[in-house]
Amino acid sequence: SKSLRIIVPVKRVIDYAVKVRVNPAKTDVDRNVKHSMNPFDEIAVEEAVRIKERLPSTEIIAVSCGSAKSQETLRTALAMGADKAIHVEVADDSKLQPLGVAKLLKAIAEEQKPDLIILGKQAIDDDSNQTGQMLAGLLNWPQATFASKVEITDTLAKVTREVDGGLETISSKLPAIITTDLRLNEPRYASLPNIMKAKKKPLTKSTPEQLKVDITPRLETIKVEEPAKRQGGKKVESVDDLIDKLKNEAKV
Ligand code: AMP
Repeated sequence: SKSLRIIVPVKRVIDYAVKVRVNPAKTDVDRNVKHSMNPFDEIAVEEAVRIKERLPSTEIIAVSCGSAKSQETLRTALAMGADKAIHVEVADDSKLQPLGVAKLLKAIAEEQKPDLIILGKQAIDDDSNQTGQMLAGLLNWPQATFASKVEITDTLAKVTREVDGGLETISSKLPAIITTDLRLNEPRYASLPNIMKAKKKPLTKSTPEQLKVDITPRLETIKVEEPAKRQGGKKVESVDDLIDKLKNEAKV
C-alpha cells in the first residue's frame, strides 16, 4: 500500500492537573505553572503512531505554534513516535488564536502535502474547538470531528464519531482532517530510550513571516474572572418550608 503522511498539530497548554488561577490584573490566568501537551493532542499523536504501526512507511510530522517552549511539546511528540517536528515560532503565545493557528497549519500543509491531519478536538486552555474545523474550511478538505475510532485505507478514512445518543460512522476521501475525542485511544508514555532517541530527530523552525501568514488577533480579551463562589446550603424543616423558600427566596 502507498505511504501515508500525517501531520499532528500539538499545543503546549497548562497541565490538566494544575488548579488554574486568575492573575491579579484580571487580564489572563497565571501561566507561571506546569505545562504539558494538550491531552487531546496526545491522543492524536497516539493515533498517528498506531496507524504507522500498521503501515510502517507512514511519516508523522508534529507541528507546534508558539514560544520557544513549544519545542518541549514537540520533543514529547517525537518521543511518542513522530518522525520529525516543525516549530512555528510566535514569541508571545497570547497573540495566537485559532484562526491564526489554522492559517499557519494551512501553510504547513501546502508545503508538506499530508494525506491526513489529526488534531485534538479542543485545546483545554482556551476550549475553542475551532482550529480543526477552520483548517478544513481553509484547505477545503473534508473533516471528521470528535473521532472515537479511526480506520485508514489507501484512499479513505473511516471515522466513528460520538454524537447525541449514539455513534455515527462516516467515510471520507483523503486528504482529510480528523479531530480526536477522549475515547479514541489511551496514549502511551514515552519510554526513556525513546526520549533519548527523540533528541536526535529533526526539528525545523519556521515563522509566520516565512509562511506569509498574518496572525493578528481578531478577538480582544476584555477581562478574566474567577467563577462566582458557591453560596452555602441551608437545611429546611419541612416540605412546606422548602416550597415557601423556593417561592419567596429562590423565586422559582
Ligand atoms: P482549539 O481550536 O484551540 O480548541 O484547538 C484544537 C486543536 O488545534 C488542538 O487540540 C491542537 O491539535 C490544534 N492547535 C491549537 N492551537 C495550536 C498551536 N498553538 N499549535 C499547534 N496546534 C494547535
